[in-house]
Amino acid sequence: MRAAVSGLTLHEPRTVREALRLLRDEAPLTPLAGCTDVFVQFQFGTTGARAFLDLSRLAQLRRIRVQGDVLSIGALATYSDLIRSRAVRQRLPMLVAAAREVGGPQIQNRGTLGGNIANGSPAGDALPVLAAAEAVLVLVSADGERRVPFLEFYTGYRASVLRPDELIAAIEVAPFEGVQWFRKVGTRAAQAISKVVMAAVRAPRPRFALGSVAPTVVRLPHTEAALAAGEPLAEAQRVLADEIHPIDDVRSTADYRRQVAVNLLGAFWKDTEGARGHRGTRAQ
Ligand SMILES: Cc1cc2nc3c(=O)[nH]c(=O)nc-3n(C[C@H](O)[C@H](O)[C@H](O)COP(=O)(O)OP(=O)(O)OC[C@H]3O[C@@H](n4cnc5c(N)ncnc54)[C@H](O)[C@@H]3O)c2cc1C
Repeated sequence: MRAAVSGLTLHEPRTVREALRLLRDEAPLTPLAGCTDVFVQFQFGTTGARAFLDLSRLAQLRRIRVQGDVLSIGALATYSDLIRSRAVRQRLPMLVAAAREVGGPQIQNRGTLGGNIANGSPAGDALPVLAAAEAVLVLVSADGERRVPFLEFYTGYRASVLRPDELIAAIEVAPFEGVQWFRKVGTRAAQAISKVVMAAVRAPRPRFALGSVAPTVVRLPHTEAALAAGEPLAEAQRVLADEIHPIDDVRSTADYRRQVAVNLLGAFWKDTEGARGHRGTRAQ
């Protein structure tokens, strides 16, 4: 069922300060970034929101830069911005690989990294990258700013510590060593929601994160520990199969997801054997 357009309110702030004041004083407001998720919810009548805050004029929240040695990505950076950014390509190539797999060019031109995070779908393609990179989110409100480790942001299915009066302003990633790897498995190579998505870093302490196998994106500490301890790949894959608890849904079965996750771990490990730099692969 479609939502009616009449009776809706749209606020169009020109500064971050004004946006934060509106969020505080005119609550409840739903922020709009690229609108690629909100529009679908609106179209299907699954949002009860009646008042919206258009963030699109807040150029300050779209900047990508390196501050000190930290990569700072404005929440309004689109996937196309990420793909074009030299700083992102150099420091976080697995995020570029993920951005290239999101939707098609139209969605990449509009959809934002902040929107992917705030929307909180467990299938969000950028989320395993941020979990593996141990990113930090900069959250802002009229009261000030706070930093939340990405791994502490989600509290459950599409639930997070983000308050209604807060915006995600930026995503920060400190430098880290290791070969970065990303793989999305969907029905086809474009315009497909992930059945399983994985981002990983091959380092002395390997780290990897999976999407679409739990209510939120997950890191897998037992599997990571098995790999770090030098256990054979087959043993790490056995640990992984026990560590995740995927569900059956319209896109896939739990058994299929578990097997794909095990296969992805194998692919990651073999692809990055003795490798230097980034290894990215297309969806399959
Ligand atoms: C055809 C199609 C294909 C798609 N393909 C993929 C895909 O392959 N992979 C994938 O991961 N996703 C995909 N998506 C989903 C969507 O494009 C992404 O999640 C995108 O990153 C959302 O960003 P947005 O800027 O459009 O968010 P919006 O729709 O504007 O907002 C999404 C949510 O985040 C909130 N929000 C947005 N920005 C902020 C902020 N800065 N601070 C606080 N809250 C905020 C909004 O209030 C809303 O609740 C697809 C969507 C469509 C329609």
